[in-house]
Amino acid sequence: MANIKYLTKVVTTYLSGPMDETCPFCHHTQAEVLGNKYFLVQLRKCQNCGLMFRFPKEKPEENLRFYQFDYKEGLTTDLPSNLELKNLLERQFKNTTKDFSGKIDLLKSYVPKGKLLDFGCSWGYGVWQFQQAGYDTIGFEISQPRAEFGSKYLGVDIINRLEEINNLAKESFDVIFTSHVLEHLPDISNVFELFYKLLKTGGILAIFVPNCDGCNTLSGFKKKKSFAFGEKHTIAYDSSFLSQTLENHKFSVHLLKDHHSELQVIAKKIMNLNEAF
Ligand SMILES: [Zn+2]
Repeated sequence: MANIKYLTKVVTTYLSGPMDETCPFCHHTQAEVLGNKYFLVQLRKCQNCGLMFRFPKEKPEENLRFYQFDYKEGLTTDLPSNLELKNLLERQFKNTTKDFSGKIDLLKSYVPKGKLLDFGCSWGYGVWQFQQAGYDTIGFEISQPRAEFGSKYLGVDIINRLEEINNLAKESFDVIFTSHVLEHLPDISNVFELFYKLLKTGGILAIFVPNCDGCNTLSGFKKKKSFAFGEKHTIAYDSSFLSQTLENHKFSVHLLKDHHSELQVIAKKIMNLNEAF
């Protein structure tokens, strides 16, 4: 169910004059309406790049505010007590929703060690597990309280401000990992360029997002509308958008599969910065 606060915000957006109808990736203005929920919230598909996204959009500053103060998603966002954290660390997050061991095994088969960026790392449970697995890891998290919690209580390195990530040296990382983050962003027009810039040539980009393949069909939309878009999910990724976009950004896609309703993507940066584009 939608919450009243979100629906009030949607109604206010409709009432407050012209709305931004542009694609959050390519900024094209024409999109097809695939369907809606709560009458007012639509899933649209860009007629230029094929990205499926939620309408109405929100301004990036509203999105930032939401993730600083309002976003709630169980263990992803709730900061554990001292005792809870002690238990989680002792069991190394095994059998919790934040157990990344399967994803770490997958990454290890491509890049066994090196510098890793956990993009959208919340309070650092992934950064900690990557450190344990031998990667030299830093996290990026826009929510200041969660970033501070990770630095303070897990002793991991988390940067918090957009300027900091934009100012990281180019070709800094062997791996960029981003798990259930890209579907929350208000605008992705620069994100693939950023990943490209920050990765070394031959480096691995690992993306995990909800699998929204088929949402452009009537039956697929019905089946997936509960999670494909809404208050939290601004963008619904499918295999064809991801593979096309990664290829356009000089990545070669090595793995793209559906795993428990999650799209798992492993792509390799194939050219150095000077050769590309
Ligand atoms: Zn587009």
